[in-house]
Amino acid sequence: MNRIFCLLLLLSAAYCSADNSILLEKADRIKSQQPQQFKQLLSELERNAHDLTTYEANYFKLLKAYRTIYAGEPAQAIQYAKEVYKSAVDEDLKLRALTVAVNLYGIVRNYIDGYNYAQQLIELIPNGSKASQVNAYAGLATFYNQLGDYESGLHAASWLLGNAVNPHTVCVAHQVKVESEYYLNREITPATADYAVNYCKEAKEYLVALISLVIKAKLYFKHNEVDEAISLLESNQEIYVKANYPVAQADYRAQLANFYLIKNQWQKAKHNAEEAIVLSSGAGMYKPRILAFEVLYKYFERVGNITQAHHYYKIFSEAQKALLDETKIRQLAIQQTKFEAQKKANQIALLNKENSLLKTQAELAQKEIDNSRLLIATFALLASIVMVWMLFNRRMQMQLKTQAQTDKLTGIANRHHFTQVAEKALSYHEKTQQHLSVVVFDLDLFKSVNDAHGHVIGDWALKAVVDVVKRVCRNQDVIGRLGGEEFAILLPGCAARKAQSITESCRSAIAAIDTSESGENFKVTASFGVADTKLCGYKFQSLYGCADKAMYRSKDEGRNRVYVYDGYPAEPFTLDEKFS
Ligand code: GH3
Ligand code: MG
Ligand code: MG
Repeated sequence: MNRIFCLLLLLSAAYCSADNSILLEKADRIKSQQPQQFKQLLSELERNAHDLTTYEANYFKLLKAYRTIYAGEPAQAIQYAKEVYKSAVDEDLKLRALTVAVNLYGIVRNYIDGYNYAQQLIELIPNGSKASQVNAYAGLATFYNQLGDYESGLHAASWLLGNAVNPHTVCVAHQVKVESEYYLNREITPATADYAVNYCKEAKEYLVALISLVIKAKLYFKHNEVDEAISLLESNQEIYVKANYPVAQADYRAQLANFYLIKNQWQKAKHNAEEAIVLSSGAGMYKPRILAFEVLYKYFERVGNITQAHHYYKIFSEAQKALLDETKIRQLAIQQTKFEAQKKANQIALLNKENSLLKTQAELAQKEIDNSRLLIATFALLASIVMVWMLFNRRMQMQLKTQAQTDKLTGIANRHHFTQVAEKALSYHEKTQQHLSVVVFDLDLFKSVNDAHGHVIGDWALKAVVDVVKRVCRNQDVIGRLGGEEFAILLPGCAARKAQSITESCRSAIAAIDTSESGENFKVTASFGVADTKLCGYKFQSLYGCADKAMYRSKDEGRNRVYVYDGYPAEPFTLDEKFS
């Protein structure tokens, strides 16, 4: 039950809202053609006021502004338009309200406020739809020309001629264009105004056509073609009548009066001047009315009526002075507003510049941070590369060093390295007064192994010998390959007796090698010579010489045995000499 009630409520609200929208749009459409019905629709909407959405309420207020204009209360209309402009959210409605306000300021001749609002309107135009933009430019074009800012008027009119399609707006644009060009003293001929006159006449926009017609007449006058000016105005009475707007009609009459005066057709001049004065009675002092007074004073002067001439001259000169003052004030106001706008624009430009400067500074700071980060990262990368390179290099050096120090086949110290290590150890043992022994051994009849089983098997035997010797020796002992099948062992801290025992172990271990693992069966033995520092001293050459002697003794005595050097003569010689 409750739900149905809510649904009904919702539907009725939607109906009301849709209804109000339709009423508002209808009222807007008919506002100028059917003023009576327009008023009725507004009264109806007034009764629905509490149902209106915010948008509708603003739209309604804008229509009320039109109603107030038609009622002849422009000040109140301006108030409504300004309220809508301030409170509306919808950009098009805002733009429309502001356009109405600007035009109303033009009508009440409050050019200063009008100019200010026109500036705001220009800023707002890009936010609106195409239709609102056209409407705004049309309003601006008319306002600027009323104000006497023909440059701006021409600019707005040119924009309209490129964008507007609605005949009324296009006609206004043509009129404003020719009027601006006339007052800006552009090089134009009466023919220039033809398009504006004809277009508007065809569009049945007689009032606008009349304004352009008068401008065309003024252009003839400017070109000293007064007869043409008169005949133009006289032959277009239809436009004059249909324009049905006294303010513009007064201008037509005043110009005609002046032309007749120039042509000495005084009666016609007087008649038209008087018509102009009647037509412009409600419009205050403005140019056509002043011109009509001028024609009248000149007329009375010529017919010799000094009193009347003086009377009209007085009105004319006072009005002209007032108009001049007003024009001056208006021009000053325009200049001031333009200056303020320029100042504001400069300030904005300055702020923008400061902003962009700050932004650039921030970007620069960020870039500096980024750069230093990049720099750090680059350094870190470089450092890592250098470190890796150093490690690699060190490894390479170590590898090279090891390669240079070791024997490729067996992996033990080569002759050169062995000699160096032995010399260092000897000097240390000498200083610390310790004993050290050197063992030299040579494989027995190794040539026959090679001969019988081939070089590969010979190599295998060399490695097998080194392996067993390594196993027998202590950790501190150093084994070296002196060349071919001859080896040496450095036994630190060992005197001959202990060295002999280790050597004996080596010998028996070699002799016990099971060569069948190589795929061949043969015997491997070696002959050993041992010498210690006690007998041979701490010079490597002599120590080695002694061990070598002992080794040769082993060979001589039948091989596969160990001899310790015990004092038989030993001639010192270098290893290089021996192996060269
Ligand atoms: P001895 O008992 O008198 O020392 O007799 P031997 O045959 O061992 O002596 P010799 O000096 O006549 O021959 C040494 C042999 O050692 C000759 C050579 O073929 C062999 N030899 C030297 N170096 C290598 C090596 O690196 N590999 C192999 N397979 N054989 C080698
Ligand atoms: Mg040998
Ligand atoms: Mg040998």
